[in-house]
This record gives sequence, structure tokens and C-alpha cells, in this order.
Amino acid sequence: MALFPRCMVKVWISVPLVGIVPGACADVSVPAKEPPSVTNGSADPLARLSQSYGIEIITTDPPFPVTTLHGMITGKAAGQGALDWYTPLFFQEFSLYPPTLVRRARLNRVVLCEDLSFAGQRRNAIPDFAHDTLYLDTTRGAYSPEYLRTVIHHEFFHIIDYRDDGLVYSDHSWSTLNASAMKYGDGGRNAQHRPEESLLVTTYPGFLDYYGTTGVEEDKAELFAHLIVRSSAVAARSRSDSVLMAKVWRLKRLMGEFCPEMNDGFWKRAASLDRRSDNTMVLNRPLDPSIE
Ligand SMILES: [Zn+2]
Repeated sequence: MALFPRCMVKVWISVPLVGIVPGACADVSVPAKEPPSVTNGSADPLARLSQSYGIEIITTDPPFPVTTLHGMITGKAAGQGALDWYTPLFFQEFSLYPPTLVRRARLNRVVLCEDLSFAGQRRNAIPDFAHDTLYLDTTRGAYSPEYLRTVIHHEFFHIIDYRDDGLVYSDHSWSTLNASAMKYGDGGRNAQHRPEESLLVTTYPGFLDYYGTTGVEEDKAELFAHLIVRSSAVAARSRSDSVLMAKVWRLKRLMGEFCPEMNDGFWKRAASLDRRSDNTMVLNRPLDPSIE
């Protein structure tokens, strides 16, 4: 069982769901149909991602502050050392996504930064629906590269979840998979003080961790992220937890409906991704001033 740092916080949805048309995600033109290869193409991995997915990846002069209806997004440019450290990890995980998935999520921009915060509170990542932007802090949580990998997928899933049907905070059919007595909490935002929030535990039947119990949106996002980064652990838990097993099937079905390329091949690639570099990454991690 991997421990997730107590200082880490998960973000909550920072932008209200007002005024954006749900569903019917039209594809836009991008130059490539396949994710970039780790070994081919431009020497700049971020440029390759940008080209392959038709997205902007901002690493210098990030556009802070960003105004949203619920608060200000602030941060600063990541230091070169942190960026160099984080980029291979980000490239590996993001390259798993089929370009069609990114198009249908309508993600336009990724901002790699430091000191990310929302409404004055530090965040590891922020999915900004209103601006089709995903903010990722390259430094916070650096002593757990596995956690940073999970954060990428967790936060991107929120964007997928929103673009799927315009609903994030409710999913009745999903909620009915839970035991009848189970009631979700009041959202991930109010769980950030709990040190055990992201520990993979067996304490909560039907859930991988405490954080998933805080809201249906976090339940799905956590499962999606862990299915990618920690597939073996999820499979092991699912074998003895019928609710969790049902959620795995439902999530994979939902993803396949949203993007047909999110098929068995995707899940196999995610499970077989070589993440052994985490062992050396953690030794060379950048310092996080907030915790070290
Ligand atoms: Zn979340």
C-alpha cells in the first residue's frame, strides 16, 4: 500500500457548470491520430504532446491570475529544474490518452506551474472548465511521483466527466451501485484536512480510499486515476469487493461510450506503462517549500 502524503490536497471543481452546453462534443481537427512515441519525433516532449493533441502547453509566463466565478486561480511559472523533473512523468501519463479522448474532452490548454492555488488555498491541480484548461503544479507532491501521476488522471477525468453529459456532482445510476445505506460526503473540498484521504484502504467497501466517499465526482475520478496508475491494486481489491467490481465495469463502459478508443487496449497500455523511474525521481525531486 502506497502512502499518499498528508500535505497533499485534491482539488475540487473550481468552476461552476453554468452557461456551458453539455454533451455533443464535436471533434476538432488535430494533426496526428496517434499519441506521440516516447522515442520518436521532436526532442522536446512537451512540443510533441502539443502537436499530437492539438493543445497548448504553457510553461513560461503562465496567465495568472485567472478569474473564475468562484475565485481566483493563481500560481507562478515552474522553475526549470522542476519542469525538467516533471516533464518525463507528465509525458508518460498524458501520452496514454487517445487524441480523440482529449478532443472530446475539449481540453485546449495545460499549464505546468508552481505555487498553484485557488481562492487563496493551495492546490495540486485545477480543472478549469470555463477556460478548457488544466493546471498542474509540478512541485507539490514531488516526493511521491506516483501520486503526481494519479493527480493528472484524476483531474483530467473531471473534465471528461463534465464533457460527458454536463453533470459532475450527480450521477444517479452510478450512485445506485453503492450499498443502499451509503451516502456520499459533502465533496472533496472539505476533505482536504484528512491525512488518510487518498490511502488505498479496505475500510470503505465499494471505494478505494476515503476521498472517493466524499462525492460521486471524486469516486469516479479516483477510480479512473487508480485504474490507470495502480491497476494491479484495483484488480486485487475488486476481486473481493463486488461493488468496486461493478464500478470498474461501469467506468470502463462509460469511458468506451465517451471515446471508443478507451478500450481494452488503452487499459492494457496503462497497466503496462513502465513507471520504475519513480524510484530515482523521488531521490532527485525538487523541493516543495510548503512541506520541506
Ligand atoms: Zn477531484
